[in-house]
Amino acid sequence: MAPHPRYPRVFTPLDLGFTTLKNRILMGSMHTGLEDLADGFPRMAEYFAARARGGVGMIITGGIAPNHEGGGGAKLSTPEEAAQHRIVTDAVHSAAPEVKIVLQILHAGPLAGTPDCVAPSAVRSRIGRHTPNELDAAGIEKQLADFANCASQAKAAGYDGVEIIGSAGYLLSTFLVEKTNRREDEWGGSFENRMRFPVEVIRRTRAAVGDDFILIFRIPAMDMLEDGMSGDEVIQLAQAVEAAGATIISTHFTWHEAQVPTIATMVPRAAFAEVTGRIRKHVNVPMITSNRINMPDVAEQVLAAGHADLVSMARPMLADADLVNKARDGREDEINTCIACNQACLDHTFTGRLTSCLVNPRACHETLLVAKGPASPRNLAVVGAGPAGLAFAVEAAQRGHRVTLYDAASEIGGQFNLAKRVPGKEEFSETLRYFARMIDKLGITLKLNTRADADMLVAAGHDEVIVATGIRPRVPDLPGIDHPKAVPYIDAILGRRPIGRKVAIMGAGGIGFDVATLITHAGPSAALDIPTFCREWGVDFAAHPRGGVTGVEMHIEKADREVVILQRRDGAPGKTLGRTTGWTHRLSLMRRGVKMLGGVTYLKIDDEGLHALVNGEPTLFAVDTVIICAGQEPERSLYDALAAKGMKAHLIGGADEAAELDAKRAIAQATELALAS
Ligand code: FAD
Ligand code: NAP
Ligand code: SF4
Repeated sequence: MAPHPRYPRVFTPLDLGFTTLKNRILMGSMHTGLEDLADGFPRMAEYFAARARGGVGMIITGGIAPNHEGGGGAKLSTPEEAAQHRIVTDAVHSAAPEVKIVLQILHAGPLAGTPDCVAPSAVRSRIGRHTPNELDAAGIEKQLADFANCASQAKAAGYDGVEIIGSAGYLLSTFLVEKTNRREDEWGGSFENRMRFPVEVIRRTRAAVGDDFILIFRIPAMDMLEDGMSGDEVIQLAQAVEAAGATIISTHFTWHEAQVPTIATMVPRAAFAEVTGRIRKHVNVPMITSNRINMPDVAEQVLAAGHADLVSMARPMLADADLVNKARDGREDEINTCIACNQACLDHTFTGRLTSCLVNPRACHETLLVAKGPASPRNLAVVGAGPAGLAFAVEAAQRGHRVTLYDAASEIGGQFNLAKRVPGKEEFSETLRYFARMIDKLGITLKLNTRADADMLVAAGHDEVIVATGIRPRVPDLPGIDHPKAVPYIDAILGRRPIGRKVAIMGAGGIGFDVATLITHAGPSAALDIPTFCREWGVDFAAHPRGGVTGVEMHIEKADREVVILQRRDGAPGKTLGRTTGWTHRLSLMRRGVKMLGGVTYLKIDDEGLHALVNGEPTLFAVDTVIICAGQEPERSLYDALAAKGMKAHLIGGADEAAELDAKRAIAQATELALAS
């Protein structure tokens, strides 16, 4: 079938001379944790095979170390280890023979989780666990040999190529900047010397694998470090790795320790592509761009603008294994889009949990999250079209059940309709677009503006009811909680009540932070406007000063409001936010002058404001408005009424358990129940 005419460039094959990529989309490297499990390789095989069947042109595996000191965990350096990988390469090639699978070689240098870690100089990273051991001449020679050996083992294991990561604060990149390379021998000093190690890695690797093997170098295109690499140095390095034998250069942005968000949902789509485009003008090999390219039209635009030859999508392939085929067929409205929340992927990786995906819990669980046999079709009512009800309805309809979906509101989405109003969370609308399309496609009967009650559901003759009625905001038991100054968060977000100039936010969970973002925001959302994003985070894509960061005072447009976020527990608010995104929210609000206080005991709300004890000291917050973001309680009244009538019902999502509820848990629970129904 001919590819859809909307994506002419995406579906133009790329001839690499000795082999051809069938299209311009590749699955970028992501650590999943599968490689560390006893049953990890068969699971990894199905995980990648599903993406190969889904139409992607090339797959890059998660990073594997070339030796013990490069990671401390999974490595590839022996024929026995190579044999384990065979199941993965065979699975991909038999699922789709024309799809390439490439092993990423990741030598973490000072970020490796072992006291044996190595680096050009003994400089500990801000986020590293150990001070690295400085490499001597023999040590450098060993590392070079280990890269070449790892690539040879990858070739023996059936991979079509390797990608060598030269960025992010891992070993190769630490040679490149003076901050981490203090050597005075031929591997340090001038930039010529500092780039010698990465270039030599490429040269040795090419010599080891021969000409007919894909060799990708991941370049630190903009490292976001003060005194980091200049634009000219990046180009010099790109030209040198090309000359040393790289087949493709892939751009990577930031070091892990830098404080500029590069993939969170607050980052505009394809924000960094123009940086790739500038380097591309100076080399002859194809270039890959990446970061926040989550839909095929964005990929097509990036290619059309001449910013890259190939587009890497990593998290979007977790969210939807069939993304490329759906684009090819013009069914992009059926794509389950990555919303860049990081909640089930990077947050899991950085807390030692297996990667998955908030919108697609099957990711990395392909062999486990499967239907328990064929369903005997039943007439199911789902009450509540929030994330839990939507996920259940779609999965159950796909299994052949007749599904009627009720919601009291005039649109589907539940609390996602609040979340999508927060600047930086615009992507949440994509999830609702996906579900709306699937409701239509699967013939689910949708009854909006319909508050379901037990009598109605019994009378309708449903066999079972899935209660996904969500939550009720918690109302703290506090004198003055019904004072006009007290505003529930739903009213604040929907603009149903005026918000004053001086505001206290009671509760410092995700919703408290989101409300603070919303009410201090002014001007265009940085997530939708690259110049605004650059101003907010002090990045200069065009001039590319050292590191790409300007280091100048931030120019943040903000509302004329004084805001304080409060919590009862001791310590700084924001600790419960996502591991990889929490710091962006805290930093962004601090730059807007938002104060944050822990150790608060609320006493009362009255005409003067909010009275409290702060670490035992009586304190008056003389505010105009107190926004209540004090968590939630399950909304189970319908479930109780159904139980009283003897109707078979199941609880999912917030209706089941409101504490620490998020959409990840709601969707996963709904999917598991539907697969068992
Ligand atoms: P809900 O989304 O609450 O949906 C329940 C639905 O049931 C509602 O549509 C309601 O109208 C309907 N309903 C209730 N009773 C009836 C009835 N009797 N008849 C018919 N319909 C009924 N989570 C994350 O994971 N990441 C985030 O970044 C994130 N950001 C958020 C930001 C904000 C501002 C808010 C408010 C929430 C955010 N959340 C986030 C939380 C997330 O939205 C919830 O965890 C999720 O929506 C819970 O899903 P649910 O389906 O259980 O319930
Ligand atoms: P939450 O994270 O549980 O936070 C509730 C806050 O209210 C806490 O600060 C809590 O801290 C306080 N609180 C609890 N009981 C209180 C009481 N009786 N009186 C006063 N304060 C009280 O819940 P949330 O902010 O409502 O968010 C709901 C869910 O949505 C969260 O679980 C979260 O996962 C999800 N969400 C996620 C994101 C995200 O970006 N990932 C964003 C928004 C929402 P103290 O008890 O210390 O005061
Ligand atoms: Fe994207 Fe969130 Fe899924 Fe990660 S968990 S792949 S960021 S939607």
